[in-house]
Amino acid sequence: MDFNLTEEHLMIRDAARDFARTELLPGVIERDDKQQFPQELVKKMGDLGFMGIMVDPKYGGSGMDAISYVLIMEELSKIDASASVMVSVNNSLVCYGLEAFGTEEQKQKYLTKLATGEQIGAFCLSEPEAGSDATSQRTTAIDMGDHYVINGTKNWITNGGRSDVYLVIAQTDREKGHRGINAFIVEKGMEGFDIGPKEDKLGIRGSDTHTLQFNDVKVPKENRIGEDGFGFKFAMKTLSGGRIGIAAQALGIASGAYELALKYSKERKAFGTEICNHQAIAFKLADMYTEIEAARMLVMKAAWDKDQGNNYDMSSAMAKLYASKVAMEQTVEAVQIHGGNGFVKEYHVERLMRDAKITQIYEGTSEIQKIVISRGVIKG
Ligand SMILES: Cc1cc2nc3c(=O)[nH]c(=O)nc-3n(C[C@H](O)[C@H](O)[C@H](O)COP(=O)(O)OP(=O)(O)OC[C@H]3O[C@@H](n4cnc5c(N)ncnc54)[C@H](O)[C@@H]3O)c2cc1C
Repeated sequence: MDFNLTEEHLMIRDAARDFARTELLPGVIERDDKQQFPQELVKKMGDLGFMGIMVDPKYGGSGMDAISYVLIMEELSKIDASASVMVSVNNSLVCYGLEAFGTEEQKQKYLTKLATGEQIGAFCLSEPEAGSDATSQRTTAIDMGDHYVINGTKNWITNGGRSDVYLVIAQTDREKGHRGINAFIVEKGMEGFDIGPKEDKLGIRGSDTHTLQFNDVKVPKENRIGEDGFGFKFAMKTLSGGRIGIAAQALGIASGAYELALKYSKERKAFGTEICNHQAIAFKLADMYTEIEAARMLVMKAAWDKDQGNNYDMSSAMAKLYASKVAMEQTVEAVQIHGGNGFVKEYHVERLMRDAKITQIYEGTSEIQKIVISRGVIKG
């Protein structure tokens, strides 16, 4: 066992930290306020290799491991969780999905652009009537011989407005249940594919979340991913890796808030001394640090499992469940340590607290993670 990061990992972490502090920090409050994220920042993240972190360099990726992915996600999320969710969806759900299960033609045509950040991708599973219960897909993809026709609605789609490539899950054969579900590559601009207005959200406000509408969208057969009926398995396998990214996002939100709270507690004076000298605050810091370190162990273990080729369904679910709980609880504590200033935008912790909540909801709610974990525990 070795808990040390390699020199290479340290360099990657420092590069992400540097980028987050110099490029993401300026304007983060305004981006949150205005619900914006400029394309030039996406391009910069692409230039640094953050949009295709684990993708093979032959497809334009950075060829790094899952530990590197977690390190990058943590550093970006400390400052701007809206940037990191863009990175996470593009990496874990879209690039991974195409690299692991796409055909060589699909990889050449789509993955090479997505891995460099030249294009952005979205993952479209959730529907108004199918969130946690993802098997209840109402969106249909009817097999017409040489193409499919897609009809339906997807909602809450991250990168929904700005993407070029959309991986869409739809029901082809209802009688076969989840074995009748397929995954398709849909391009922006395909006839009948419409993007609805942006959601006005509590947190990750810089990330664009949209409802998507499919009205008789003709998708060529070669855009189906995997064998007929592979779509549900495709979604579950990609989401399993996605949970490592969201767990790392939660870890970053928690550790970003903790770092701000620690600094503030050493500067702010009350009753003649820095507030960190009051045991009530010192103990909060002790609990925060301990909880965050425990979350870090679970997140790293899940990434390590992925790198080792181990099954990571349970470890990624545990990492997400725990890290998101830590993010929610510890960002609240960070606001408390800041007192009144914690309630004000310029101190950043209120944003981190708002951003933390989503990590308990998307890519499987905490309740769904417990279903995954308990099934694994009981099966043995
Ligand atoms: C900002 C944002 C971005 C998102 N991005 C994407 C995206 O890019 N792509 C995508 O496909 N989706 C995305 N989602 C959707 C997200 O994954 C779903 O919101 C989530 O899976 C929960 O589904 P739901 O909202 O329908 O809640 P529901 O499934 O209706 O759940 C409501 C409540 O019931 C609980 N519950 C449901 N079933 C059970 C059960 N069996 N046992 C115990 N409790 C249960 C849930 O845990 C939750 O607390 C995003 C959502 C948001 C808010």
